[in-house]
Amino acid sequence: MAENCIFCKIIGGEIPSNTIYEDEEFKVILDISPASKGHALILPKQHYANIYDLPEDLAAKAMILAKKLAGHMTEKLQCDGFNLVQNNGEVAGQTVFHFHLHLIPRYKEGDNRDLLIWNQLQYKEGETEELVKLLTL
Ligand code: 5GP
Ligand code: ZN
Repeated sequence: MAENCIFCKIIGGEIPSNTIYEDEEFKVILDISPASKGHALILPKQHYANIYDLPEDLAAKAMILAKKLAGHMTEKLQCDGFNLVQNNGEVAGQTVFHFHLHLIPRYKEGDNRDLLIWNQLQYKEGETEELVKLLTL
């Protein structure tokens, strides 16, 4: 448990939360300020600040759990779509520095349409080739 980490406190039961799933490695809670009805957060019980620190096996398990919950929540909430969101670093919008995966149900009716809409930029000539060279793994 990390000191002053709100999610560690929730996992430890020090701070109450609305839990919809729990196992040995994860707790899934409703977000306190939801982007849409049912917005939930997958929290690994061990403290890792972000995706860079998260061990691969937990990353894989988090995604499998996200798939399970996306299906379950879609059925129960009768939502029309679903976003998985995961922020790393302040510049990326992370505000709680304990890895978490957002589960965001989306609705045709009454949903905030531009919840996740960004400006679409354009590459300059040659830029994509440079990026492919740089990034090819
Ligand atoms: P981030 O911006 O770091 O990706 O997301 C942090 C999320 O945690 C936000 O959506 C915020 O509403 C949620 N959150 C922050 N504090 C609490 C809390 O005490 N309880 C719950 N359930 N959610 C929280
Ligand atoms: Zn923590």
